[in-house]
Amino acid sequence: MKKSDVVVIGGGLSGLFAAAVAAQNGKKVTVLSYGAGSLTIGGGIVDIMGYADGNVPFATPIEGVKNAPEGHPYTFIGEDTVKEAVEAFKKMASAEGYAYQGSLDEMQWIPTAVGTLKPTALVPRTMDVAKMEAAKKLVVVDLAGLKDFSAPMAAKNLGLLFPNKTIETVKVPELEKSGRDMTAFDTARLLDRADIRTMFAAALKSKAGKDVCFIVPPILGTHASYVAFDDITKQVGAPLVECAAVAPSVTGIRLRELMLSILRKQGVVFIEKANVCGNIVENGKVVAVTTKDFGRQRTYRADEFVLASGGFYGAGITADQENVKEVVFDLPIVAPARVEDWTNAKMFSDAKQPFAMIGIAVNEQLQPVDAEGAVIYPNVRVVGRNLAGYDFCFEKSGNGVALTSAYKAASLIVKGGKA
Ligand SMILES: Cc1cc2nc3c(=O)[nH]c(=O)nc-3n(C[C@H](O)[C@H](O)[C@H](O)COP(=O)(O)OP(=O)(O)OC[C@H]3O[C@@H](n4cnc5c(N)ncnc54)[C@H](O)[C@@H]3O)c2cc1C
Repeated sequence: MKKSDVVVIGGGLSGLFAAAVAAQNGKKVTVLSYGAGSLTIGGGIVDIMGYADGNVPFATPIEGVKNAPEGHPYTFIGEDTVKEAVEAFKKMASAEGYAYQGSLDEMQWIPTAVGTLKPTALVPRTMDVAKMEAAKKLVVVDLAGLKDFSAPMAAKNLGLLFPNKTIETVKVPELEKSGRDMTAFDTARLLDRADIRTMFAAALKSKAGKDVCFIVPPILGTHASYVAFDDITKQVGAPLVECAAVAPSVTGIRLRELMLSILRKQGVVFIEKANVCGNIVENGKVVAVTTKDFGRQRTYRADEFVLASGGFYGAGITADQENVKEVVFDLPIVAPARVEDWTNAKMFSDAKQPFAMIGIAVNEQLQPVDAEGAVIYPNVRVVGRNLAGYDFCFEKSGNGVALTSAYKAASLIVKGGKA
C-alpha cells in the first residue's frame, strides 16, 4: 500500500468528515474502518449543544457552544471553528443534493418517536419543524406493522405539548405483506419504490388539507436524496415532518451514504473491515498503523493520523474491571480512578454521567497529551467521541462535537499544524 498524507482511523461521522475536509484541500487520504460506528443508529441530525447542567435548555446552539463548561471539547475547538465547520458541512451536503438546514442561531425542537421534543441544530429537509409549528392540525401516521413507533402515544404526547393544535392519527394499511414486523429501514426501502409511494400518499390524502402537517416516523426513503420525500409530499398535498426514531436509523444511514458518496468523488481510499490494532513509531512520531484481518497484518503509512475510533461506543476505547484502554496508540485515558464513581445513582438524572465523559485528553491542536500536558505524538489528532470531557447524550452535542473536531483536525493538518 502506498503512503498517504493522512490516515483516518474510524468510519463514523468524525472520521468521514475529517477525511472529506482533508481531501477537499488536496490531501491523499485513506480511511480505515471497522464498521459504521454510531451513524446507523444515531439520529442523522447534528446536535450542537442542547442542554446545560441541570437539564436547562440553551436558547440557541451557539449559546451552548459559548457556555460550554471547562474541559469541554468546544472550549478548545473554538467558536469560530465551530461556525466554519457547520458551514463547511452544509456546503458539502448541499453540493451533493442532500442539503441540511438549520443554523447555530436557532434551536430546532424536533419531534421524537414518542411525541416529545428534542433540541438539535442541523436537520435534513424531511425534518423541517417550522412546518409542524405553523400547522393548526398535526396528523400522526399510524402505519400497520411498523415496530418501535406508537402513533397513538406520539399523538397523545404531542397533544400535551401543543394544546392549541388539533392532533389526530391516520391509519395506513401494511405497505406490503411481509409476515413480520417491519423496521423503519424496511419501510423506507419500500418507499424507495414509486408504486409504494403512491399507495402510501393515497392513504394520507384523506386527512390532508389547509394548515395540516403529517408527523411520520423516519421512513421516507433510504437514500441521501429528497426524491422520495418530494414525491410523497407532492402527492399528499400537505407537509410531512419526519420524527427522530430508534435504530436502525434511516436518517443516519442517509447521512452515511451522503458522506461516502462525497469521499468516493474525492478519491479517498476507504477500507472497510480494517481493524487497526497497532502502530509503528520512529523518532517520536507515528509513521504507520497496522491492521490484522483474516490472520494477515497490513501496514498503512502516512504523515498524519486522525484517531476517530469512537470512544466506548465505537470500540476505540475498551474497559474491563481493571483497565481502560485506547486500542490503537495506547493513549492515556482520563477516567475517575474508582469504577464505582463512573456512574450517577440515577440512569436518567439531571446530571452528566461520568462514564460518558471518559476519553482522551488533548491540547488545542487536538494532539493527545499526558497528565502533565506533554504531547505524546505530534502527528496524531484525536476527534469525535474519543475526546474526554463531554456527555453527548445528556447535552445533545454528539454529531456537533464529531463534525467540529474533525474539521479542526483536518484544517490543522492542511495548514501544516498551525491553528
Ligand atoms: C443510539 C445513539 C443515538 C444518537 N443520536 C444522535 C443524534 O440524534 N444527534 C447527534 O448529534 N448525535 C447522536 N448520537 C451521538 C453521535 O452519534 C456520536 O457522538 C458521533 O457520531 C460520534 O462519532 P464518531 O465518529 O466519533 O464515533 P463513531 O460513530 O462511534 O465511529 C467510530 C468509528 O471507528 C471505528 N473503529 C473503532 N475502533 C476501530 C479500530 N480499532 N480500527 C478501525 N476502526 C475502528 C468504528 O467501527 C466506527 O467506524 C447518537 C449516538 C447513539 C449511540
